[in-house]
Amino acid sequence: MALIGLALACLGAAALLLNMHSWNEGGVTIMWPSNGLLIGVLLCVPRRQWPAYLAVGFAVDLGINLALSFAFWVSAYLACCNMVEVGIAAFLMYRTVSPRPDLTQRKQLISLLLYGVVVAPAIASLLAQLNTTSAHSQHLFTSFKHWFAADALGVAVMTPLYLSFVERERFAGRSRLEVAGLLTIVSVATVGVFWQTQLPLLFLLLPLLLIAGVRLRLAGSALGLLIVSIVGGFLTIQGRGPVALMHFGTPTTHDLLLQFFVAISMLMLYIVEVVIAERERLQTDLTASETLFRLLAEASNDVIVLTNLSGKRRYISPAVITVLGWHPDELTGHTYHQIVHPEDVTAVEAMMESCREGITAEPLIYRCRKKDGSYAWMEASMRLYHDDTSNEPIGFVNVVRDVSNRKAAEDELTHAFRLVENLAMVDGLTCIANRRRFDETMDREWRRAMRDGSLLSLLMIDVDHFKPYNDIYGHVLGDACLRRIAEAAQEVIHRSSDLFARYGGEEFVVVLPNTDRNGAQLVAEQIRRAVEMCSLPHSGNPHGVVTVSIGCATLALGHDSAATALVEAADQAMYLAKSAGRNRVEVAASSAVADDLPAKS
Ligand code: GH3
Ligand code: MG
Ligand code: MG
Repeated sequence: MALIGLALACLGAAALLLNMHSWNEGGVTIMWPSNGLLIGVLLCVPRRQWPAYLAVGFAVDLGINLALSFAFWVSAYLACCNMVEVGIAAFLMYRTVSPRPDLTQRKQLISLLLYGVVVAPAIASLLAQLNTTSAHSQHLFTSFKHWFAADALGVAVMTPLYLSFVERERFAGRSRLEVAGLLTIVSVATVGVFWQTQLPLLFLLLPLLLIAGVRLRLAGSALGLLIVSIVGGFLTIQGRGPVALMHFGTPTTHDLLLQFFVAISMLMLYIVEVVIAERERLQTDLTASETLFRLLAEASNDVIVLTNLSGKRRYISPAVITVLGWHPDELTGHTYHQIVHPEDVTAVEAMMESCREGITAEPLIYRCRKKDGSYAWMEASMRLYHDDTSNEPIGFVNVVRDVSNRKAAEDELTHAFRLVENLAMVDGLTCIANRRRFDETMDREWRRAMRDGSLLSLLMIDVDHFKPYNDIYGHVLGDACLRRIAEAAQEVIHRSSDLFARYGGEEFVVVLPNTDRNGAQLVAEQIRRAVEMCSLPHSGNPHGVVTVSIGCATLALGHDSAATALVEAADQAMYLAKSAGRNRVEVAASSAVADDLPAKS
């Protein structure tokens, strides 16, 4: 606080020198900077410390006024007016500025200009006019104008200067050399412009102030304005510089003109500051969000692909290196034709089409070519994305993941399932269809025959004297014999729609869709002969070889009974063959109805 007191005293004294000089020359107070400094200080400290700071400010102000040989009460009143100005400005700006002072924020700058530069100095100036001394010496309005202009300028320059100086990174982190260089250039140019009395070169200062502002930011702008105010003010009082070139007007007019120039420059500089800062903040936000999204895209194990509407890639995340072996650069700018398996291109295009139509497409599993030439199974989830401003669709976001392992596991599972399913349908001994498969087929074919009015024949095959075979040759040879019979019979059955199955024990069945009685009898006879021709020795069989007896049955149309009826009929025919001497084919009598009907093929 002592330091602030000292700074206020120094600033007050310096300003006093300048202003006294101006007064002596018949001019006005050029700038009253200490109020601006104190406002800056108050905005940076907790409010409970304000009375103490205001007291210090009051004391310094009182001292200066006394030094100007004002009467004590007048001095105290004027100091009071100044503190009222500081208090009002700080109070009004506190909510907007204080938590995080940054006058490059539009709101804060407007708050400074409105409350600090206009409202507070205006109130203080009005109060100051109540003082009789000043009312006597000058016209009331003129006096108000002068006090106001000096204070407003002081706040406009000093508050931003103080606030930017308390920031950690003042002068936007520029090197000291650059700071010193730029300020020197501004100072030298200001001296140059205000020293000469030939040309109205005031405009020359604007680009220099602008450069200082752009490079050194708010601190640079404020310092530049301070330099112009002090140097310009001092030299103008001396009757030098562009302002004094005017042949009309009094020193007061000159001072006011200078103040006006500084005020306009200040407005321009601060607006530029706000614009630059807003652009920088936007850039920072943009970079931050881009970094975030890039991080998400690049940390993902899934490959994220952005394409235009025709599928040409604009971005592909680096995960593609591990997944497919391609570098993103090798894929960017190309379409799906480059790596999608030719057989899957249509599916990919169909997915793109659905997305274009706004339908949420199901994830698609397709093959992508790896860099090594092999193919990997990928799963793609595709979405349409739109332009931010026009909301027009501009491309696809495709999240692609390697599902090769899952697909392999699925395939393996399907294979295993088929195997199990097959096993469940295959007879373990003879490797032909088993009873279950027969039942299913029979059921299906029966219903088909009923529906279509087509024919269905069934053969029931039983090995003759098989019990003795087992007894003579043993079960192992008995099993081998069954296998051989199955092979021989299978060779006879050619149609893919026919089914040859083991019915149980040493009994076999043949399902013959679309086959009439004659056809069935023919097949049965061929099987009988094929088994006989195998010439498997069987000493227990009067033929000396293994033989079979076969019963045939054909579905009688209009016979609306269960499939088992056909089985029973074939079974009965088979027993007929047994009793008729075995090694023969017998046809069930009930199938006679279907005799005259032609078989569909
Ligand atoms: P038939 O000429 O009247 O048919 O006389 P058969 O001895 O064949 O009499 P049946 O059909 O009743 O005999 C069935 C025999 O078939 C009983 C069993 O010894 C034999 N058998 C049934 N299933 C198997 C099998 O899986 N393996 C072996 N080795 N023998 C079987
Ligand atoms: Mg039997
Ligand atoms: Mg038998």
